[in-house]
Amino acid sequence: MRFNPSLKMFSVFVVSLVLAGAAQQPGTSNPSAANPSISNPGGDPVATDTLDSSIFLRQQMKPAGPGEQTYAPRVEALIAKMTLREKIGQMTQLQIGMIADGRGQNITINPAKLEKAVTEYGVGSILNVDDEALPVNRWHEIINQIQAAAGKTRLHIPVLYGIDSIHGANYIREATLFPQPVAMAATWNPALTLRAAQITAAETRAASIPWNFSPVLDVGRQPLWPRLYETYGEDPVLATTMGVTVVRGYEGTDISGSTNVAVSLKHYVGYSAPLSGRDRTPALIPEITLRQYYLPIFRAAVDAGAHTVMVNSSDVNGVPGHVNKYLLTDVLRGEMHFKGLVVSDWEDIKSLVGRHQVAANEKEATRMAVMAGIDMSMVPSDYSFSDLLYQLVQEGKVPVSRIDEAVRRILSVKFALGLFEHPAPDPHSQAAVGAAESRQVSLQAAREAITLLKNESSTLPLRKNMRVLITGPAADSLVPLNNGWTYTWQGANAALYPKDRPTLREAVSAKVGPANVIYVPGSSFDHVIDINKVTEAAHQADAIILALGENSYAETPGNIDDLTLSVAQLQLAQAAVATGKPVILVLVEGRPRIISSIAGQIAAIVMAYNPSNEGGQAIADVLFGDCNPSGRLPFTYPRHTNALITYDHKRYETEEQPFSQEGFKPQFEFGTGLSYTTFAYSNLVVAPSSVGPGQNIKVSVDVRNTGQREGKEVVELYLSDLVASITPPGRRLVRFGKVRLGPGESRSLSFTITPEDLSFIGADLKPTIEPGEFVLSVGSLRASFSLAPARAAASK
Ligand code: BGC
Repeated sequence: MRFNPSLKMFSVFVVSLVLAGAAQQPGTSNPSAANPSISNPGGDPVATDTLDSSIFLRQQMKPAGPGEQTYAPRVEALIAKMTLREKIGQMTQLQIGMIADGRGQNITINPAKLEKAVTEYGVGSILNVDDEALPVNRWHEIINQIQAAAGKTRLHIPVLYGIDSIHGANYIREATLFPQPVAMAATWNPALTLRAAQITAAETRAASIPWNFSPVLDVGRQPLWPRLYETYGEDPVLATTMGVTVVRGYEGTDISGSTNVAVSLKHYVGYSAPLSGRDRTPALIPEITLRQYYLPIFRAAVDAGAHTVMVNSSDVNGVPGHVNKYLLTDVLRGEMHFKGLVVSDWEDIKSLVGRHQVAANEKEATRMAVMAGIDMSMVPSDYSFSDLLYQLVQEGKVPVSRIDEAVRRILSVKFALGLFEHPAPDPHSQAAVGAAESRQVSLQAAREAITLLKNESSTLPLRKNMRVLITGPAADSLVPLNNGWTYTWQGANAALYPKDRPTLREAVSAKVGPANVIYVPGSSFDHVIDINKVTEAAHQADAIILALGENSYAETPGNIDDLTLSVAQLQLAQAAVATGKPVILVLVEGRPRIISSIAGQIAAIVMAYNPSNEGGQAIADVLFGDCNPSGRLPFTYPRHTNALITYDHKRYETEEQPFSQEGFKPQFEFGTGLSYTTFAYSNLVVAPSSVGPGQNIKVSVDVRNTGQREGKEVVELYLSDLVASITPPGRRLVRFGKVRLGPGESRSLSFTITPEDLSFIGADLKPTIEPGEFVLSVGSLRASFSLAPARAAASK
């Protein structure tokens, strides 16, 4: 139930209170998981080798679909026949509760409500669940009823149903769920991310839902933000590569395909950088920064053919996203040439009055938002938008031309999706949902995401004949392994989770045998339970697996005041360390919670993020050496609450100064990740060492597996601009690759650096390339080259 923000909050609070206990009861999760492990005898279903991220990206940039001009005559013919009421109806999006009764699994369409929405108001779009994931056959029933009602209207315009398939089709009961987006970024494996997106799209469309409110393309540079886990991390190159890949995976080359959906790039733009770290609070982003770090990701996804965009609920520099004409129209349309539809976020036109106080009443807010560039309003729980917009047009305050423009975009997306031809579900499509192969892809993704951050004295991998003590609030529940957007908005309803997926405790038990596992809850996420039992039981164990982190949350309910891990969990960690047994810390969390008070005393640290339903097994595979970890941090893991600095900071932000205490010493750096083997780099060659304007630079480097077992290495190529008119970052990622290497095997990777890679946003807010010295680095190798000034090059 998400009727308004306060109700939304209240229901979350009550549901979490009721369910938190169930989720955390010792030994209660998945008691029926008889044979919880799945095997992967044929190896990884998706190849790991991506030799050059930019080549992969370019392949994804192919133009999508036949293009809106194909449908233009049909769109115009319809618009010519539509009444003003019908047009405004198309611009209206309501939540499912507006056409249904009952909630959860008991939801049923109410014919009178449906008639009011679809026939009387002609609403163009319906969204969401209320508030539980439904099986595919229930979705078919619902969509059939909606489209049957739409089919009986004067112009037979189908309804566009939209949903949040954030990490897999998470509102479809049988669907395959994948690691949350930031964990997908940690794989540094775009091919795997593409496959996961394709499966997500196919399973969403199989339920007859053609529109996905994903991906989040706002770059994740504010670790406190409760939606960090929905991003692709802090770096624009990594986020662009993954984001564009996901767009292509969802949309394919033709969104009318039965395995494709339209994407919604969200939340345009700057939502991810709240100053306070709290969700939906103001961001201050100078335009030069917006253009350098935030806009390029959206621009690339627009270039890749994305069909829809959702708007930032918050404000940037005091201007709410929903009235920001400059960003919505001048930049998105004028500069990026976006042709698709722009949808508001939840209730955000109303928020312009109460929350943002930029409009005196909802009517004025509606005028401002529509004139700024909003084509469709996610109202979502009344008819105020339709009624007010109708009045505004009648009064001449919104021109009909603006209404036609919005309707044109909405109808074009409906035509592109093939909804006019196939509005109703295909009953055979259910078979595609939750296939065994898809589950293998999810397992591979979880394994490739997991990031080994510390491994003192080769504590890991553990031996399978060990006795282990496992403790901590993330040890025996699938809920934290998934986080929000899992079967419900907040993901907290453990009863909806599959019964046949192992928790970490169950997966560890399958490795060493139940007799060799001692399980003690220790603490919940916030309260001590039985820490003393950890101390008592430790003498029977060879090692302690400590699974800490965060319980599930989504959006505003995930706000925190302190990035530090909770006191109860830190006490549990201290008690575990005090036993003298080697402690392996497994972090199950959507953002980097600070662990500096314990990290030094822990033997091994494994970052699992939110690896989803196959995560228990994937973590156990890493802990016991059945999988060699290859994830790399997609964000900087801070050491201190007041040192939230990204890796691509300016050099003088962190260098030791005479009076400063310390420089940049995060707990773990962006791009970090250990392996059970070792890799060595050699032969970094950059040619030519001096280039003129417009010339490319060739870079090659050899990487060798110098250890005893097969492993996957992420090759990260960074660029440093030594002198620039805008103070430059110390280094920034320009390319990456990921390769699988057997023991002793080596491979040469080559990259082409283009003039565009050397550019940055200058004082005039335009991409600028300045001559001078540059350094390229990979591993500990560095090589420099120089860019000659334009005139010198011309005289050569
Ligand atoms: C979120 C969006 C989401 C929408 C629909 C909003 O609260 O900010 O990301 O797509 O709800 O569920």
